[in-house]
Amino acid sequence: MVVDRIGMFPGSFDPVTLGHLDILGRSLHLFDRMIVAVAEAGHKQTLFPLEERVEMLRESLSAEQSALVEVTPFRGLLVDFARQRRVHGVIRGLRFVSDFEYEFQMVLMNQRLAPDVDTIFLMPTAQYTFLNASLVKEVARNGGSVEGLVPPGVIRRLKARFG
Ligand code: ADP
Repeated sequence: MVVDRIGMFPGSFDPVTLGHLDILGRSLHLFDRMIVAVAEAGHKQTLFPLEERVEMLRESLSAEQSALVEVTPFRGLLVDFARQRRVHGVIRGLRFVSDFEYEFQMVLMNQRLAPDVDTIFLMPTAQYTFLNASLVKEVARNGGSVEGLVPPGVIRRLKARFG
């Protein structure tokens, strides 16, 4: 029996950027199907509510990706959700050394909680290594252009928010 390899890409995606989509595209080279798991706010205050973050992601997928990618909200511990969905690996993006410290802590904690769930790190193309959702929001809030950094649907929603 051939079993599909399923990966999970978790995050807050507030909002989704082309950096996130770069990582998602790469993960589809490793997995047959992907679950993009959109975290409820948790300790972070988000600009967009959970449903809108999910919607923006769904709108940003190509037709081909839509057939292979499920975008779904989740609450609680990532490792519990990963186990529940029987994924074969968790994908995270790694940009700078500064990402590493936090991600390393997360992996060690997740290994304690669920030794069977592994995390795989992928790096985006150079042009997105500086890109993060907080920076996008900051630029948009102050009237700067985020063209080429986020999908068109996200530009529309940022404009609606900040005018
Ligand atoms: P979280 O709150 O879980 O960090 P984010 O939405 O900020 O959620 O990020 C989700 C994942 O996407 C993280 O692994 C993060 O490192 C990665 N990521 C975010 N922006 C980029 C980018 N520009 N290039 C590559 N990976 C990125």
